[in-house]
Amino acid sequence: MSPRPLIGIDLGTTNSLVAVFEDGAPRLLLNPHGEELTPSVVGIVDSGEVVVGACARSLALTRPERTVAAFKRWMGEDRSVELGGREFSPPELSSLVLRALREDAEAALGVTIEQAVITVPAYFNQHQREATRRAAQLAGLEVQRIVNEPTAAALTYGFHERQVDQKLLVLDLGGGTFDVTVMEIFEGTLEILSTAGESHLGGEDFTTSLVSHGLSKMGRQLELAELKEPLLVARLREEAEKAKHDIGASEEGTMRLPDTEGCVEDDSERVTVSASEFEEIVAPLVERLRGPTLRALRDADLSPERIGEVLLIGGATRMPVVRRMASELFGRPPRDSVDPDHAVALGAAVQAALVADDRAVDDLVMTDVCPHTLGVEVVKEFGSRQAQGYFLPVLHRNTTVPVSREEIVNTIHDGQTEVIVKVYQGEARKVEENLFLGELAVTDIPRGPAGQEVCLRFTYDLNGLLEVEAFVPATEKKFRTVLRHNAKSLSDAEVAASLRRMQQLKFYPREDLENQRLLAFSSAALKELDRFRRQDLEQKVDMYETSLHLNERGVFDHARQELLRALSALGLPYQEGSDAD
Ligand code: AMP
Repeated sequence: MSPRPLIGIDLGTTNSLVAVFEDGAPRLLLNPHGEELTPSVVGIVDSGEVVVGACARSLALTRPERTVAAFKRWMGEDRSVELGGREFSPPELSSLVLRALREDAEAALGVTIEQAVITVPAYFNQHQREATRRAAQLAGLEVQRIVNEPTAAALTYGFHERQVDQKLLVLDLGGGTFDVTVMEIFEGTLEILSTAGESHLGGEDFTTSLVSHGLSKMGRQLELAELKEPLLVARLREEAEKAKHDIGASEEGTMRLPDTEGCVEDDSERVTVSASEFEEIVAPLVERLRGPTLRALRDADLSPERIGEVLLIGGATRMPVVRRMASELFGRPPRDSVDPDHAVALGAAVQAALVADDRAVDDLVMTDVCPHTLGVEVVKEFGSRQAQGYFLPVLHRNTTVPVSREEIVNTIHDGQTEVIVKVYQGEARKVEENLFLGELAVTDIPRGPAGQEVCLRFTYDLNGLLEVEAFVPATEKKFRTVLRHNAKSLSDAEVAASLRRMQQLKFYPREDLENQRLLAFSSAALKELDRFRRQDLEQKVDMYETSLHLNERGVFDHARQELLRALSALGLPYQEGSDAD
C-alpha cells in the first residue's frame, strides 16, 4: 500500500461511499455494517450522542424530530437545523457523515486518513463547493481536490475503457441533485465538453410525489401534514420509498397508510400505484430532466445522435421512467456497465490517484469545465443615462479549466479613484439574479476623465477556486483576491469556533453500533440459555442496557465489563466487531 492512502469520497444526498485506490485499482471500503452505502443521515439519541448512518436512519422511523437527512440540499445556504436542542449548519451535518466515513476507512485500512478527494454535483455553485470544503475541514480532512460527480463517474468508465474513442453523456440523478455532463474520451484523455443540471431535483422528489399522492387519498395536504403530523409523514415516506422501488421491479407498488402516530398495522388502508399511474404522477419531474440534458448537448454543440454512450449514475436512474426518458431522447438504451451507486466514489479514488501521480494512471488525463459563468457587475450607458447592476461575463460557463482570461473595464465618473469589483456567478443579465461571490477594491486610480482602464484577470483552477486580479495600467498597481472565503461561508474564526463546538459533541457512531451489537448478541444468547443461567445474564444485560442511556462513562464501562465477563463465563465469548446473529 502507498504510504499515504488515496481516498475518494462520494458525499451523497441519500447515501455516501468511500473508496481507496490501491494496487493499481479503485475499490470500495465497507462500513462496520459490512455495507458500501452509508446513509447520509444524522441523529441525536436521548442521551445526547450523535449517531450517523444506518443507526440514524433507523432512529428516523421512531423519532423523526431527532434526525435529519438530505441536508446536502442546503449546503451553501445560510441556515441552521435544530437537532436534539442544538443548532447545526449544513456543513456541520455533512462533517459528521464525513467523519464517520473517515473513521470507517481508517478501520478498514488500519491507517490514519487526513486527505481525500470529495465529489460534488457538477452544478454546485461556489458557495456549495465552499461549504463542502468546510465540512471536510470540520471532519479533519484536507481536501485534495473537489471533483464533479459525473466527472468522477466518467473517470471510472475511462479508467476501465481507455482505448475507446467516443462522446459520452452522463446523466446523474441522485437523491437530491441532477447533473448532465457531456464528455469525450480520446486516447486516454477525458475531456469534459459541457455540464448542466439542477441542484434541487432528485429521487427524493419522486418519493415526495408519492407521499403527496398517499396523503391526498387520506384527504390531507403535504405541507400541512408535515407540520401537524410529522410521524405520519415520516412513516408514509418510508412506505413511498419502498413503493417507488417496487414499481421499478414489479410494475406496481403499495403504500400502507399510517395513522397519526405513524403506525401501520396489517389491516391498515393501502394505496396501490401502478407503473403507468406513477409515470403520470411524476411526469412534471421527468419533464424537468429534459431541459438540462438538452442544454448540455447544445453547449457541447452536439445532437443526441452524436453521443456514443449514455451512462446513468445515481440511485434514482434505476427508475424505469428515467431510463425510458433517456432511451427516447437518444434513440438507444443507456449503457449498463457502470454501477450507478459505485461509479462516483470509485472515480473519486481514481482522481486521488491522478492527484498523487500514481503510476497506474499515468496514461489517463482529465480536463474539466467551470459549470457556471463568472463575471463582474458593470454599469451600462444608454445615451446619457447610466444604469447599474449589469453582469459582464469574464469566464463563460463550460470553459475548460484551468483557465485564465482578461477583461477590461473602465471608470464611469470623472475623477474616480476607486473601483469596487463585485464578482458574481450565474447566467442572468442582471447581477441581482446571480450569486454574489465577493469583491476586490481597486484603489489609487489617478484622477482623470471617466474611462480610465482597469484590467481584470479571472483564473479558475481545477478545484473551483477563483483568483481575481486587477491591474491599473496608469499606475502599474496590482490587486488580487482568491474567492474561496465568500460572504456566506464561515470565517476562519468561525470555523475554529465551529470545530470547538463539534468536538464537544459526544460522537460515538462506532461505539454506538458496537454497543448495539453487544446488546443484540447477548439478547440472542439469552434465548438459548436455561432458566438458571439465564437469570444472571439477564440481570447483566438489563444493567448494560440501562447504562447505555445514562451517559456516564464509568457506569457504562463497568456494565459492559460485567456483561462481557458473564458471557465468557457462560462459554459465549463476545468478539468485538462480530455480528449479532
Ligand atoms: P444516491 O444519492 O445516488 O444514492 O441516490 C439515492 C436516490 O436513488 C434515492 O432517492 C433513492 O430512492 C433512489 N433509488 C435508489 N435505488 C432505487 C431503485 N431501485 N428504484 C428507484 N429509486 C431508487
